Amino acid sequence: MNGQIPCDADLMFIETVSTGTVHYRAYHLDDDAVTEVVEGGGALVALAISPTVTRCGKRTFPQFERDHVKTNRFRDEQLCRACYRTLTPADQERAFEHETPDDEDDEAEAAA
Ligand SMILES: [Zn+2]
Repeated sequence: MNGQIPCDADLMFIETVSTGTVHYRAYHLDDDAVTEVVEGGGALVALAISPTVTRCGKRTFPQFERDHVKTNRFRDEQLCRACYRTLTPADQERAFEHETPDDEDDEAEAAA
């Protein structure tokens, strides 16, 4: 059981380039600080090859920006359903807190 995402964590969206499917995982907002410590400790290689495991159990490597890339702008239909099912109802709303390719068009229509 995955449980609810803690309030001090956020969602990271990871797109599989070949399929366009967007998976996600929760991460703590202080992850960046931890990364800096690891890099300073000479463990950079170990960190760079460690996979980012998504909510549905898929191993991704967004740090290589090749097969998987971090994204924050995609269509709702691209969301991985397996990942989505692991979320609690409250967290499922957060899964839709992302930009879409249509955002700019919506703003233009609203202004018209
Ligand atoms: Zn997934």
